[in-house]
Amino acid sequence: MKNIIIFGAPGSGKGTYSEEIKNRYGMGHISTGDVLRAEIKNGTELGKIAQGYIDNGQLIPDQLMIDILALQYDSHPTGKGVIFDGFPRTIAQAEALKRMLAERGHDLGMMIELIVGEDVLMERLLRRAQIEGRADDNEETIRKRFAVYHSQTEPLSKWFAAEGIRHTFDWGVCKTKEGMLEAIFQEIEKENGGVES
Ligand code: ATP
Ligand code: MG
Repeated sequence: MKNIIIFGAPGSGKGTYSEEIKNRYGMGHISTGDVLRAEIKNGTELGKIAQGYIDNGQLIPDQLMIDILALQYDSHPTGKGVIFDGFPRTIAQAEALKRMLAERGHDLGMMIELIVGEDVLMERLLRRAQIEGRADDNEETIRKRFAVYHSQTEPLSKWFAAEGIRHTFDWGVCKTKEGMLEAIFQEIEKENGGVES
């Protein structure tokens, strides 16, 4: 299986769809947000550094994030491909990921972009706040995360298009999680020349 980069705004469903893809195809899954939250929970040095950024809706500095990602990648089985969830989030991270994979004889694979309107995103994140209680899911921090997304992450969409690996899925068109998933699975199987699932 090709590697998959799941790309989208906060609350677009990166984690949810990653889980579904992982379960269907047996791929590896690296969520940088989950890695950082585990570090915070365990009170590590890295967790202490990360917390300040996350609580403020800011990104962790690129070089730190790139080092974390390489460690994660090297400790994951890569035979069935890996899903990158929440990484890369800047052009520098994308360039580093491409280089890191090339050094290992691998490539970026395909990028899946989830397009969801901001009103839907806000509603979802505020609902998630009540269920999961994530410290960064409050309206003020969510607004900051949207701003960071627009300024630092969204420009990457074009970078992936230029790489020729961008595949976009629009919530406004698919309308349901099942519809979105069906479209995503079809595209993944097309890209991999038809896969057994
Ligand atoms: P969702 O999973 O709902 O799409 P999200 O994109 O808001 O949510 P996570 O991917 O879990 O959330 O990331 C949470 C926070 O962790 C980010 O706001 C940021 O501070 C930090 N973070 C995660 N990945 C990166 C990254 N690649 N570079 C820099 N910071 C990151
Ligand atoms: Mg997530």
